[in-house]
Amino acid sequence: MAIVSCPFCGKKISSKAATCNHCGQGLAEVTPEQLERSDRDRRLKLNQSINNHAMIALILFLGSFLYFYYKMPEPGSLAQNLNYTAMALSAIWYIVSKVRMILFKRQ
Ligand SMILES: [Zn+2]
Repeated sequence: MAIVSCPFCGKKISSKAATCNHCGQGLAEVTPEQLERSDRDRRLKLNQSINNHAMIALILFLGSFLYFYYKMPEPGSLAQNLNYTAMALSAIWYIVSKVRMILFKRQ
């Protein structure tokens, strides 16, 4: 027996359950193999999505860092404030994505 996600509502259920105890959908016509496959697909998609987030955050961070490095926005200017904000937000976003990835892999 394995814990899989309901293909209808996405909540955790037993792969042997006849009906989902969260949404009540009948699972009789869905084989445990199909359930496990849909669970794997869902995890794969989530994994991909977290990876994409980390990648976009990294590009954003590098972009704002390069902007800072080459353009040297004037201290106290709006450009510099926006630049710092972009760097900080993308760094936080990147770290959050990495933490999500670690938590996801622990499941
Ligand atoms: Zn369900």
